Amino acid sequence: MRKNNKTRSSHEALVAGIVPSSFVDGPGNRLVVFLQGCNLRCIYCQNPETWDPTGKKNPLCIKVSLEELLRVVNKYIDFISGITFSGGEPLLQWRFIREFSRKFKSLHPDKTIIVDSNIDVESSILIEVSKYVDYFTPDIKAPNPELYRKVTGGLGNFTRMISNLKLLDSMGKIYEVRLPIIPTITDSEEVFNEWINILKEHVNSNVRLRIIKFRPHGVANSFLKNKTVNEEVVKNLINMLKINGFTNIVYLG
Ligand code: SF4
Repeated sequence: MRKNNKTRSSHEALVAGIVPSSFVDGPGNRLVVFLQGCNLRCIYCQNPETWDPTGKKNPLCIKVSLEELLRVVNKYIDFISGITFSGGEPLLQWRFIREFSRKFKSLHPDKTIIVDSNIDVESSILIEVSKYVDYFTPDIKAPNPELYRKVTGGLGNFTRMISNLKLLDSMGKIYEVRLPIIPTITDSEEVFNEWINILKEHVNSNVRLRIIKFRPHGVANSFLKNKTVNEEVVKNLINMLKINGFTNIVYLG
């Protein structure tokens, strides 16, 4: 593995970090690969060091070949259920994900590949990587275009994200949908009702929903410093979801 100095291809990736064991990034014990670069600038982002797609501003970023990553994965293969690609936005390096997943699945058909994506990308990319990727874990950062733009630092395309949500649901490729509760932004009943309407319209009612409560750790945005989300607010969202027929809900606190 080498320090980054350019290029991205189907056989080489810019990697911001690798965590060999995680139980919160998909089913079972997972090796998580954090890919460098993001197309959004979410105001609650806890990984701003992964934003720069060149990796030059992240001293931990390294260039990793497909074969090198397979060697790393092989060290843990007997202990993991699969690989999760996270970020940043991992699909900025979708060619690498496609090629790695193709090779990995041919070697380990019993293991799963999950992509933790904001799904605010061209739908053709999702269709292409879906040939080898088992599931995605998208989030609905906000339930309407205005709020979505605000939450994503003015860069998000709400229509595209929602259309991709529907696409992935129709393909059976959603492992879970995440709903991030951000203080003063997505913590009101008005937003909860909008989220529920989006879910009713675009995904199956059996969808696994994961409530993500805002944590200030690592967040660069000073506006959110010292702000928290009350547990009662989380309980209220869970109740509202259940009343509306969404019962497959996960909240890890
Ligand atoms: S999509 Fe994820 S990594 Fe990118 S800015 Fe938003 S929270 Fe951060």
